[in-house]
Amino acid sequence: MIFDGLSNKLQDTFKKLRGKGKLTEKDIKEATREIKIALLEADVNFKVVKDFIKKINERAVGVEVLQSLTPGQQVIKIVNDELTSLMGKENTKLEFSKKGITPIMLVGLQGAGKTTTGGKLANLLKEKGKKVLLVACDVYRPAAIKQLQVLGQQISVDVFSLGDKESPVQIAKKAIEHAEHNLYDVVIVDTAGRLHVDEQLMDELYNIKNEIEPVEILLNVDAMTGQDAVTVAESFNEKLDITGIIMTKLDGDTRGGAALSITAVTGKHIKFVGMGEKIADLEPFYPDRMASRILGMGDVLSLIEKAQANFDEQKALELQEKIRKQEFTLVDFKEQMQQMKSMGSLSDILQMMPGANTKALQGLDMSDKELVKTEAIIDSMTEAERLNPDIINASRRKRIAQGSGTRVQDVNKLLKGFEQSRKMMKQLSSMGGKKMSKFKLP
Ligand code: GDP
Repeated sequence: MIFDGLSNKLQDTFKKLRGKGKLTEKDIKEATREIKIALLEADVNFKVVKDFIKKINERAVGVEVLQSLTPGQQVIKIVNDELTSLMGKENTKLEFSKKGITPIMLVGLQGAGKTTTGGKLANLLKEKGKKVLLVACDVYRPAAIKQLQVLGQQISVDVFSLGDKESPVQIAKKAIEHAEHNLYDVVIVDTAGRLHVDEQLMDELYNIKNEIEPVEILLNVDAMTGQDAVTVAESFNEKLDITGIIMTKLDGDTRGGAALSITAVTGKHIKFVGMGEKIADLEPFYPDRMASRILGMGDVLSLIEKAQANFDEQKALELQEKIRKQEFTLVDFKEQMQQMKSMGSLSDILQMMPGANTKALQGLDMSDKELVKTEAIIDSMTEAERLNPDIINASRRKRIAQGSGTRVQDVNKLLKGFEQSRKMMKQLSSMGGKKMSKFKLP
């Protein structure tokens, strides 16, 4: 799998930081050294690595201490942020003409995946309700025209071709005219490629660009070619001022350096990635999701952010104090649950955890329901009952169950659960366990 090597190395580095209460400058230096090696081994462009490490160092050393995160977790967060911005921060969507046809040019070296991507993209846009025309402008490789026609048939998208007798510029021009007459929304032009960047090819592409004024010029690069893909992108961008990149073959066994360097070097965003040979294997590119994947943490970082935004540290401290004084009541119990809820539903939260499996999540819907039930039961109690659950006898239990639309067994279960957690907290506080409000990374 792509990024496996990088992912493993970064995770090893983070493991070393995790247990530490405080990070010294030496810890950070050692960690950034390891990150640097991991990136270079993943074939990331040298200059990109240098800038990246500089940024990590600056941010990690002056790190503001957040109470809810350990220093190790904060370093992970910084690396995640920087990896995300290295790949372009956010998903960049395709542009469309405000009115009339949207011409899209697909360019790239031979074998980069243009024709295949043309089919994939046409299908994606068709599914979004666009009327799409594919145009065969690769007149040098007769098989390319046939390939596009077969693809078009497969996905029921029209293909415009004038064989190999006309010039690509003429074909493109006539295709646009045809599209205008027949009210197409999007025209995807599949252009010729060469094995290497050459002047003649670039001139041809430049002329097509001038003729049809595309809204998007998407460069296809093969992720497996590593830093060569970056160099190719620089050349194409210089001549054509491309609008975005489609990185193909990311499903292959690549180290991932191209994906991590190409935007930093060219300033152009990866809009889509090819994840296989089939029509459906084209995905929008999300830098943030890719970064979390590299760090092997599911979406745990968004979870940390949510926790930071919603978890009231002052309340957590008050709670600790109450536990210490053994004043923890059902009112606190409910408040704690509300805090959990303000972070999103439990299933949402768990979905963001790495390694969460669907089986566990099925059980979780139940837990969400359970939460609502618990709240209803506590709401049906009187203030006195909430503060002193010991007074809740059989008849009170019956009343509470009726008031909350639950059964007496549910009320019993809740009281038992509360009693157990109170006991556990008593034990904790007598052991001097003060640190109960920390969020722990897995
Ligand atoms: P073109 O010369 O740029 O038009 O490239 P093609 O579209 O003919 O693709 C070259 C080869 O790469 C074909 O065998 C495709 O099936 C394959 N290919 C294209 N995109 C992907 C991808 O995302 N993943 C994989 N594994 N193969 C791809």
